[in-house]
Amino acid sequence: MRRRRPIAALAVAALALPLSIAAFAAPASASSDSTPNGPYVQCGKQPVNLNGMLSNEELQQQIDRLESRRGDVVSVEEIGRSVEGRALNAVTVGSGSRTIVVQTQIHGDEPIGTEAAVALLKNVSAPSPAAQDIRDAVTLVVVPRLNPDGWERYNRDDWASGLDPRRNSNDVDLNRTFGPSDQDMSLAPEAAAIQEFLQEVQPDLVLDYHHQVTYGTEDGDMATMSVMWGTHPDVAAGVADTAKRAASVIGDGLAGNGHATVTLYPQSDTATTARNGLSLDGIPTLLIEQRGQQEVGQKSSGVLTKEALTSMDSVLGAITDGSFDSVDPESVFDLPERGDRIRTSCKE
Ligand SMILES: [Zn+2]
Repeated sequence: MRRRRPIAALAVAALALPLSIAAFAAPASASSDSTPNGPYVQCGKQPVNLNGMLSNEELQQQIDRLESRRGDVVSVEEIGRSVEGRALNAVTVGSGSRTIVVQTQIHGDEPIGTEAAVALLKNVSAPSPAAQDIRDAVTLVVVPRLNPDGWERYNRDDWASGLDPRRNSNDVDLNRTFGPSDQDMSLAPEAAAIQEFLQEVQPDLVLDYHHQVTYGTEDGDMATMSVMWGTHPDVAAGVADTAKRAASVIGDGLAGNGHATVTLYPQSDTATTARNGLSLDGIPTLLIEQRGQQEVGQKSSGVLTKEALTSMDSVLGAITDGSFDSVDPESVFDLPERGDRIRTSCKE
């Protein structure tokens, strides 16, 4: 039977801190017949307005503001630059013995994790006892938007006719450059930066946020999030177990969320993804795939961001309250398998 454990009290407290999710409310008046102000992506008949999401400039401003306002608990390190010269930042909060890295948007058109990670940084750096408890237990490092150039392209009106915004500006899929990949890393400076950083930091866990298209479950639900650890046969069992615990904790954390259904992601053994490649290098890494704005349209961005934030909070909460280590890794198999694809009006 599936364990249904409420998410840790500390995580709930952190969630209760002020959050500016309202920024995602896109104008309801945007119709399919007119172009809304600014960048948008046509999803069937529903324009997906990207204005509610952080531009590259806004993301940098948010990071700079955090550092200036909460410099006593937040530090920012530029770990590299994109092909087009945009800064890649690692934002660290807390000084606990467990180092958790949240990395997002290595595919440029998958922004939800970035939005949630910025909200997480605000929560965990807040001047509250609950946030202090997390900072005492965890060293949180957020490396947001690893592919800022792809995001920049995705925000252009003519994005569909140009280079795939999923890839970097040298046309490299950055999520095929890990582990034993023979990719020329001079063409993938974004991936080189995160890999070098992670090798130096040797985190206890990496959470790697992505988007997937829409899938169902055997029970007829819609999968809103799918998770998977390093499944390559050469990944050490202990490394996989840590990521399995994280997956299980996330499943429990979202079990009470009426909008969320967490499933397992199919087990592929491609060694050059972050999930497998980092795990092969001894760094426990959990892939987290959410439905994204490409298929959901503009209405659900806030819900998906909250889902991502809850997943992050669940893991930090379980580490902070000490329950993480006692989670049975095999309990992750209580999560349902991802089912068949559900066709939507986008990305047919
Ligand atoms: Zn992706």
